[in-house]
This record gives sequence, C-alpha cells and structure tokens, in this order.
Amino acid sequence: MRSHPSPWYRDGRFRNLDGLDVPGDMGPGAVLKWKLSRRAPAEDPLARDVPALPITPDAAALAAPPPFQITWLGHATLLWQVDGVNLVTDPTFGRIGHGTTPRLAPPPLAPDALPPLDALLVTHDHYDHCDLPSLRALRGRNPQAPLIVPEGLGPWGRRNVGGPVVELPWYEALAVGPVRVTALPAQHWSIRGPLDRHQSHWVGYHVAGPSGSTLFSGDTGFGPHFAHIAERLPPVDVACLPVGAYAPRWFMQRQHMGPQEAVDAARILGARVLLPVHWGTYRLTDEPLDEPPRLTLAAAAEVGLDVCPLHPGGRYTRAGRHGLWQPPDGVTARPDPASNR
Ligand SMILES: [Zn+2]
Repeated sequence: MRSHPSPWYRDGRFRNLDGLDVPGDMGPGAVLKWKLSRRAPAEDPLARDVPALPITPDAAALAAPPPFQITWLGHATLLWQVDGVNLVTDPTFGRIGHGTTPRLAPPPLAPDALPPLDALLVTHDHYDHCDLPSLRALRGRNPQAPLIVPEGLGPWGRRNVGGPVVELPWYEALAVGPVRVTALPAQHWSIRGPLDRHQSHWVGYHVAGPSGSTLFSGDTGFGPHFAHIAERLPPVDVACLPVGAYAPRWFMQRQHMGPQEAVDAARILGARVLLPVHWGTYRLTDEPLDEPPRLTLAAAAEVGLDVCPLHPGGRYTRAGRHGLWQPPDGVTARPDPASNR
C-alpha cells in the first residue's frame, strides 16, 4: 500500500513521463523471442568481446579528493565526491541477481576501501542496480548515511538495508551537506519479484554543489524526459549516461539507450562532458562488451562532444583524467550499427 499519492502513480502502477509502459506489449513472449534469437556478439567487427578491465584507484586521491571528482567503479556504480560530500550510485561489487550473473572483471575497489559515504543512491529496483549484498556492505560502514531511493522502494530499503531511508519523487531534492541531490525522471520500469512490477519508480539523480554539477540518468531509454529535465535544470557539467545493454534494439530501445542516443541526450542536457557508464561489467544483452564505448567515442567525435570513457577505477577531475579507456586498436570512427538493429 502506498503511503501518499504520487502524480506518477496511476491505475495501480508507476508510469513513465509519456504514460506508456516500457516493455509495452512485450510480455513473456518477447523475452522468449529474444532468448531464442540471441546470436554471437559480432555485430561490429571492430569490437572485442572483452570486459572493461579495472585499474586500482589512487587511494590518496579518494581520501583527499579535489572539490569535484568522479570515479567510475564499473557498471552503474559511481563515486561522486563533490564539495566534500561522498555519494555512491547503484553499488555493485560482485555477482548479482542472487549470484546468477557473474561480474566479468573484479571491481576496482572492495566496499570497505571506499571513503566514508554521506549518502547511498539507488536508481531503481533491478538487480544490476539495487544489489542487496553491496548495499549491506556499505551500510555496515556507513550506518548514518541516508539511502536515497525512488518512490515506492522505501519499505524494501528499510526492511532489507536498514538505517535512514529517503524516498525522492521525481524533481524533489534532498540537501546532503552543501550538495543538493535531485531525483530526475527516467524512461524505464521496475520489477524485482513476481508481484511487484511497477510498484516502485525509476529515477536518475542530479547532484549540484558550489564546485559543479553532475548527473546519472539511471537506466533509461531515449525519450522526452531529457528535454523535460533540460527545461528545469541548468546545463550539467558532467553527464554520466548509460551507453550499453542496447542490443537487440527491437527489445531494448525503450528501456536502454545506445551510444548515439546517449550522445544526443548529453547534448540536450547541455553537458560539457559525457562520462559513459553501464558497459563492460556484466553481460546483459547481445552487443560485444567493448562496442558501447567505441561507438560512443565515434558518435561524440562527429558532433565535437567531450567524452570521458574510463576503465573501472578511473576518475574525472577538473585538473585531469586518470584511467582513460581507449580502443585497443585506436579505431573509433564508425557509424552506430545499433541504430539499424
Ligand atoms: Zn534496469
């Protein structure tokens, strides 16, 4: 039972901005069709099916960061260090989904190697974003840090993770020290068990402090919400956007962006830098593991967008970038084959 009415909750479920369901009419039959049609990941002959290999972050840089530092820890896990506030998004450090999905390379850091955290952020309830063992590991070391979750996920958080839990509806904000955390619309869906489909919402997060702003869109398809956000928030300095888990397009398009769409979204948001995430860590879909950053570099180059692809453990600062990912053969220029799938 919901504790308060939400404008985004109608007829028994949370909605997207356009009111439509993400899988749409794609029920279990569509999943079966996808499973039966899966093929070897060889769409882009340049791409290599290798995971994003981690580098070990500089412990001193994490312990005493500059005012604006972003470290990618693989998949959707970001360590945002903004004006002395440490935030982590969607932490995952190992196998996910009750152990069913292996992590393809080790995490760059163990949970106990992270600096003290001021908040834990979860964008939605899918297992590759809302990983209970990782959240519990971080909760143990950060008992007072609020766990910030979308509407409807609060009871799950209180029951399973414990400690302070805050539900943030779309466009509502929470102050964490000098930093303001605002929940953003995303175009996605939710499910964790057989009876909870669309019973919690899905969000992105915008973080702004005196030294700058960043956002993570959460899992999202490309949709009208990016313009909606751009009308309400100033241009963001660094947009952390998902670029992977897009193939096959007929099935994934409404729930996951591809590289070209991430570049388009970054431009709509007025981002000065695109930091690609959600690739190379878990095998979720059909594209080769290093195709997403390769195509993101190519698409960004066409429009002159600054893109910062990192190895897990790599970081962005104003003064420099550490652990930049580059294609092994140096080749990026290639149109996005995902757009034709
Ligand atoms: Zn998801």
